[in-house]
Amino acid sequence: MLYQRSSQLFAEAEKVIPGGVNSPVRAFKAVGGTPIFVKSAQGAYLYDEDGNRLIDYINSWGPMILGHAYEPVVNAITEKAKLGTSFGMPTELETQIAALAISMVPGIDKIRFVNSGTEACMSAVRLARGFTKRDKIIKFAGCYHGHSDSFLIQAGSGAITFGTPNSPGVTAGTAKDTLLAAYNDLGNIHDLIAANPNEIAAIIIEPVAGNMGCIPPAEGFLQGLRDLCDANGILLIFDEVMTGFRLARGGAQELYNIKADIVAFGKVIGGGLPVGAFAARAEIMNHLAPLGPVYQAGTLSGNPLAMAAGLAMLQKLNEDESVFKRLEEKTAYLEAGIRNVLSENGVVYTINRVGSMISVHFDEGAVTDFKSAGKGDNESFRKFFHGLVAEGVYIAPSAYETWFISDALTYEDLDFTIAAIDKVSKSL
Ligand SMILES: *Cc1c(COP(=O)(O)O)cnc(C)c1O
Repeated sequence: MLYQRSSQLFAEAEKVIPGGVNSPVRAFKAVGGTPIFVKSAQGAYLYDEDGNRLIDYINSWGPMILGHAYEPVVNAITEKAKLGTSFGMPTELETQIAALAISMVPGIDKIRFVNSGTEACMSAVRLARGFTKRDKIIKFAGCYHGHSDSFLIQAGSGAITFGTPNSPGVTAGTAKDTLLAAYNDLGNIHDLIAANPNEIAAIIIEPVAGNMGCIPPAEGFLQGLRDLCDANGILLIFDEVMTGFRLARGGAQELYNIKADIVAFGKVIGGGLPVGAFAARAEIMNHLAPLGPVYQAGTLSGNPLAMAAGLAMLQKLNEDESVFKRLEEKTAYLEAGIRNVLSENGVVYTINRVGSMISVHFDEGAVTDFKSAGKGDNESFRKFFHGLVAEGVYIAPSAYETWFISDALTYEDLDFTIAAIDKVSKSL
């Protein structure tokens, strides 16, 4: 494959955009080489600026769950665009998508739309703090909740109690209100709550972690969090930006039958346009302005094009009885195929999967938290990534990312991918 034009475009982009990209993971820092510039996408395929076709396992990091340029979504956007693209005034469409989302997701009475997953998580935390009148939150190492200050926190040296900023620009004052815990470790949460009595507003978690590869919650872990939250007046926030409308109609809440107090959405809910949302029962949501004292706003929130795309997407996912089952079956087929060829070729690996989220780690130990996710062999991953690209298969350019399966993938695409992995893994 040739990447001449992509390389040229990247060089031009670097002159005017920091690192040449508008979001860091796109820059290929973890795998080396130059990013591939996309020209168009259709169904399961990406077409790049050099004319290469790639089978897409990222799907814009999740939103394109039904494939690229999905006709009902594209039509909804184009029809709406002709009627004006933004008003800063309410539209009927906002109520329609809100009502549909509420009907699909367990335990929520009201929902507010924002423009990204970052905004959704940031607002969910502010709401939790306003509701409980407490300041501190607990987050898990390796879980990603967007780039707002409270979440850019790493484990402090030595003491587990206080986090420290993991980006310049995040103040120590902000960091001290975010406590860090290890994923799948209830004892850790227990200790943090005991050390900070009546101070913790919320625990925020990816109910299936997807930002350190895919890590499923251990048996009883989510229920344990629910119980600890109930016993201590803490709100449980499920960040379902990745899992929402992907693992089931009602997301991880439905899959694991655990109710969160506040749920954050993004990715799929916008059908490929910039949308996030957060939702809860009325008692909590009524704390938001203009009804309550907790301030949150957005000039472009509920934008008609974004709402039209999201509504068309949710309608399809809601109507199609078998879509989540199909996604599960396709991903299970892919998993079995990958296991086969990696084992046959003597590659050391661990595969984690929940529904249509899957990740391959080049390490044989169980991957259950951030620490174990970091043990994978990065050199193998680099070779794996570039080998697959050369075969026409695009996975995330980082070992810490989940692959997102779309329903546009056919079994021929999956077989092609498994054959490519067979070929590439011989040279690992
Ligand atoms: C992608 C993601 C976010 C951030 O969403 P943006 O739209 O990129 O701001 C937050 N939480 C999770 C779990 C995500 O996967």
